[in-house]
Amino acid sequence: MNPLSQLPSVDRLLTDPAVASLTDTHGRSIVTRLVRNALAEAREAIRAGAPLPDRASLIEKIGTIAKAQAMSRLRPVYNLTGTVLHTNLGRAPLPEEAIEALVTAARSPCALEYDIESGGRGDRDDIVNELLCELTGAEAATVVNNNAAAVFLLLNTLAQRKEAIVSRGELIEIGGAFRVPDIMKRAGAKLVEVGTTNRTHLKDFAEAITPRTAMLMKVHASNYAIQGFTRAVPESELARLAHANSLPFVVDLGSGTLADLDAYGLPHEPTPRENIAAGADLVTFSGDKLLGGPQAGLLVGRKELIAKIKRNPLKRALRVGKITLAALEAVLRLYRDPDRLHERLTALSQLTRPEAQIRAAAERLLPAVQAALAAQPVMVEIVALKSQIGSGSLPVDRLPSAGFAIRPQGKKGGVLNRIEAALRGLERPVIGRIEDGALLLDLRCLGPGEESEFAAQLSALSRPGA
Ligand SMILES: *Cc1c(COP(=O)(O)O)cnc(C)c1O
Repeated sequence: MNPLSQLPSVDRLLTDPAVASLTDTHGRSIVTRLVRNALAEAREAIRAGAPLPDRASLIEKIGTIAKAQAMSRLRPVYNLTGTVLHTNLGRAPLPEEAIEALVTAARSPCALEYDIESGGRGDRDDIVNELLCELTGAEAATVVNNNAAAVFLLLNTLAQRKEAIVSRGELIEIGGAFRVPDIMKRAGAKLVEVGTTNRTHLKDFAEAITPRTAMLMKVHASNYAIQGFTRAVPESELARLAHANSLPFVVDLGSGTLADLDAYGLPHEPTPRENIAAGADLVTFSGDKLLGGPQAGLLVGRKELIAKIKRNPLKRALRVGKITLAALEAVLRLYRDPDRLHERLTALSQLTRPEAQIRAAAERLLPAVQAALAAQPVMVEIVALKSQIGSGSLPVDRLPSAGFAIRPQGKKGGVLNRIEAALRGLERPVIGRIEDGALLLDLRCLGPGEESEFAAQLSALSRPGA
């Protein structure tokens, strides 16, 4: 008998109870399409000589595909890379206050651009303007999609068809194609480089000022450090020189924490408040780096300059939505209470987590990790590690941390890559790093409340076929 004629029809398969339950979960049109595809594939395989597939395995395959397709592409993962603000893993995790605020804003209409008192039109920047001014000492503020957009908008507004003077030591590239010279060009500004890679003096800036100069600019060297025989001009001197020539002095700060990090035992990172106090007329920084909030670009500074930036039609193209503003506002409020900030702001609590606490977590989890890898030719041990802050913040500083080192026993090449891939293949992927012949899992960013869920899913690694 021709096996092709023994394949069930689409309609027959759809009425199978197992397929009907898939339909309940995923919807009729999706499951019908998968059934059609599965039958077409089976037909082709049979024509190529394969045997008739049994009904159960056909249905199982349809179920697997339906489940895979229903899974979000924006999967939550465990960030055990040791880089806290990991750009590829979404940078700062938001604090609960911000999560609540953004959910509320997402669910209901809200006063985004509406003045409740007058019943008239409002300005979305007003949601965070006062808070940003209070926290930075600036006169006014505005918010755009990210810091790259903030820098672009600033240059396009103030330096189009004019010149912006920057030190050669600060012509940075941030991962993901943000390069100061390229942004300048796209913004229509002419970059005037002064000084040398390692040393730039005030007179280098002074000699470069012409009638075409629009601004003096400082870019915070956020993802590298120049050490040794170096010289950069202090901001206060650059500000004085700019103002003596009736020019604005602007700073691209990059990672812009609003708190004094020294107070939490972290290395010092310059703040927008310090820039403003030193005489900067505009400062731009990211919302989701050390600030610990949602992706956003913040511009703070002199009122008339912010007003000019807000009048640029590109502001409309780069503005943020209500969900971002809701989260940002909630995060900024946390900064008003510095005493409790390190407990409430998730990014800061991860950065300040004591090494002893991380090591204690490693000790609690060691048995589960060892059990999951018992059948593998590897050794697991608890080791001291160094975490990085990430996102181009404090590039040289490392935070003492702890976690697991998984090392191959004997010369078993490839086993680490296999385990690394298996960890990535878990329901909630575990992302570590391979370094010096070991797979390292830094536990700094594993929340205490996540430990049991983390340990539970590891058992999938020891199941046959894993
Ligand atoms: C990170 C960074 C940027 C880009 O900011 P995004 O928020 O990622 O767009 C620009 N300049 C500096 C100095 C930075 O550190």
